[in-house]
Amino acid sequence: MDNHTAKKIRGTLQADCSKCFGLCCVALNIMASSDFAINKTAGTPCPNLQKDFRCKTHQNLRDIGFKGCTVFDCLGAGQKVSQGTFNGQSWQEHPEIANKMFTVFPVMEQLYEMIAFTAEALTYHISPALKNRLTEQLEKLQHLADLDADSLLSLDIISCRMPVNELLLEASEYIRSELISSGHMNKNGKHCRGVDWMGKNLKGKDLRMTDFRGAYLIAADLQKADLRGVDFIGADLRDANVSGANLSTSMFLTQMQINSAKGDDKTILPPHIQPPPHWIQ
Ligand code: SF4
Repeated sequence: MDNHTAKKIRGTLQADCSKCFGLCCVALNIMASSDFAINKTAGTPCPNLQKDFRCKTHQNLRDIGFKGCTVFDCLGAGQKVSQGTFNGQSWQEHPEIANKMFTVFPVMEQLYEMIAFTAEALTYHISPALKNRLTEQLEKLQHLADLDADSLLSLDIISCRMPVNELLLEASEYIRSELISSGHMNKNGKHCRGVDWMGKNLKGKDLRMTDFRGAYLIAADLQKADLRGVDFIGADLRDANVSGANLSTSMFLTQMQINSAKGDDKTILPPHIQPPPHWIQ
């Protein structure tokens, strides 16, 4: 698969709530916290969800204790389940499919996340052999996402994840070594996989090429940090301050991670990530 096609696939992975039956507001189990004002069990509609599948408090979610709703991003899994898997039949009109639909949604969410990362890996300059293996994996994931509801529910998602994780790790190492050898980066990044740097002051630091896979960067001060070439897969960036930081070539960064962080109009983001509305309000 060429870079252009991979970029196109990655670019289409956007939530379109107008085509979804409010699945994230019903299907998920949510505990009351600073991100969500109430307890809600999986399969129970949030009391703020209206009949038209719109949120009645959409405009002021952050002010009334539902910050987590402004962070969540299903990458389009919601509309895929609503319009694809269940062919446009809503759980309101067809209560007999509701439970199945709500159980399929988290499965699709995970498949979409793997599709997004795999497609992103294919947008970089990687070896033909790695490209072939990633393409094969991407096609496999796309095929799984097209399965019917019963087949999706019988998937072993952990087994699906293992080869994807291995490939993404290999791709990350390859991409970062290429950035150095091509002269785009002149620094070997540190391995900071899974570090607990919650609240750490990293303001203005040169962190290029760092491996932050699975790192805890909650409330870390990353203002004006140079984060180019950083691998952020699975990193927790909640309330991390990335104001003025350069994330232009950060890898495997998700919209959800950025939505959960603090930033400003000086933060430089990769092309597939949009600055969240709450950064500029
Ligand atoms: S508060 Fe609104 S966006 Fe959040 S779960 Fe409830 S209906 Fe959905």
